[in-house]
Amino acid sequence: MATKITKLSDDTFMLTDKFIRVNEFLLIGSERALLLDTGYGSGLKEKVKKLTSLPVTVANTHLHPDHSNGNRLFDEIFVGEADLPSKGMPSNDLAKAVATYYFINSRIPDAIIEKVLQYGLIRTGGEKYSPLWKSIDLGGRVIRTLPCPGHTPGCTLFLDEKNKWVFAGDTINPAFWAFTNPALTLIDYARVWMRLQPELEGYGKIFISHHSKPLDAGYVGAFIKNLLGMTLKDGKPSFIKGGTPQQVHIYKRRDEKYGNMAVWAYPSQVRKV
Ligand SMILES: [Zn+2]
Repeated sequence: MATKITKLSDDTFMLTDKFIRVNEFLLIGSERALLLDTGYGSGLKEKVKKLTSLPVTVANTHLHPDHSNGNRLFDEIFVGEADLPSKGMPSNDLAKAVATYYFINSRIPDAIIEKVLQYGLIRTGGEKYSPLWKSIDLGGRVIRTLPCPGHTPGCTLFLDEKNKWVFAGDTINPAFWAFTNPALTLIDYARVWMRLQPELEGYGKIFISHHSKPLDAGYVGAFIKNLLGMTLKDGKPSFIKGGTPQQVHIYKRRDEKYGNMAVWAYPSQVRKV
């Protein structure tokens, strides 16, 4: 799979898997580098080696296959404690349940469903998993972590204190997936972000996993407003027809400055009125 490398600064690179459109980030200090996420791993190690000869620490923004299936290329992976594979992998159960539904109820050829499922399952290898540190000094560049439970219970923000950049994975997005964590309500998730907001004071760009352009800091306030304002009447059923505990809906609202914001969620996660 082709990977596009975008230079964000002299010591920061975005590696984009062009097929799945997911970004990994390489943050380089004077003593070591930090690789955030491993995508599907194709050619990743070679690409990283071309960009830095320093030792590389590898962390996941969260444990989902499009962010972590390249983990097997490395010896040790740091991930938010609640997403450690030893805690179970609910996203695999969900992917298998949806695939089973389509095996039984659709005319889509089995081989195609199996192919899609290959991308939807987290695959671990012999790598060791360890809980994330609170901060790491890469040599003149400190990266702090802040838990942001929601999209998965172990989702984490990485704060680059030098550049005042945030690396946010899938925690904030113009099309946010809440259904991946059925216990979450949108109101609770708005509260998570309200608690984080003071910590993000002074931070500018927010780099996310599935868009090439970063969000600006003001997006957080608009995202919170959107989560708080969303009600059942904003939703329409998504194309995912079955295998999930409830029908996944897409709830949409429009922000004056930032345009359409969507949340993929179960009705039970959304305010009634
Ligand atoms: Zn994800």
